[in-house]
Amino acid sequence: METPSQNAFFDDPGLPLAALLQWYADAGVDETIGDEALDRYALSAEALAAARQARSQTASRPALAGPGGQRAPGGDGLVRPAAAGLAGVPQQARETAAHVVSGCNSLEALRQAMEKFEGCSLKVTATKTVFADGNPKAPLMLIGEVPGRDEDREGRPFIGESGRLLDQMLASIGLDRNGCYLTNVLPWRPPGNRTPTDQEVAVCLPFLRRHIELVQPRLILLLGGLPTRILFARPEGIMRQRGVWRQYESAGLSHPIATLATLHPEFLLRQPVQRRLAWRDLLSVQEKLRAES
Ligand code: URA
Repeated sequence: METPSQNAFFDDPGLPLAALLQWYADAGVDETIGDEALDRYALSAEALAAARQARSQTASRPALAGPGGQRAPGGDGLVRPAAAGLAGVPQQARETAAHVVSGCNSLEALRQAMEKFEGCSLKVTATKTVFADGNPKAPLMLIGEVPGRDEDREGRPFIGESGRLLDQMLASIGLDRNGCYLTNVLPWRPPGNRTPTDQEVAVCLPFLRRHIELVQPRLILLLGGLPTRILFARPEGIMRQRGVWRQYESAGLSHPIATLATLHPEFLLRQPVQRRLAWRDLLSVQEKLRAES
């Protein structure tokens, strides 16, 4: 894509400001997050140096055989960083994340660790770390995909349009946010709401696994394809995986957790005709909550 300085049109001093703003919006830059320009390349280099330093510190310790209960790096079925030509850097950041979460024994410690973590570049462009909402003692944990613009501003998951639909979905089975606990696969909004890369997801996965272990809910409801793909690593898409109860396991859990995937509220906003499928899934959750209470 051409940038303004490469394009004579943008060098024109008579350029209307609205056209420049439109160019930014088309490129996915749709909000201002500060008054001062930041050198993102310098920040990435700092994050990389920090990840390398942490790795060299952990190299002399016993192997990270699953701190926090997550599998050793390479075991989640995601695209390997080397295959993506990233020279193993995300793997280092992942190992750093795995090491960091192994020391988190409370949700507050996990939240602070995420807020300090420098191994995922999404954090640099995000405004806030979106950790969780709701009641961590509730029997049901919901896992969404990534924060959007509203969530990024407020630092809470599911507060935009899809969050309002989610609230209605929960209300339809007699739940509100106090009756469940909500988080996302990624705590940072990808710029311009782009799809997160497998590397970004892989780096943050140890945080999600530890999050589940610390909450230890009775049931998990996965919202959409991303959490379903990364926690179950199966070839089928969400339309085939939804509505099927599976057991989520990890080394840090005392027992497997019954987990159901359903359609993401954002998808249901675009495809209202599919709400009947989500409704079936919600009834299944309600039935299981009743049976296990
Ligand atoms: N979509 C998500 O998956 N999570 C949010 O927090 C908001 C929208």
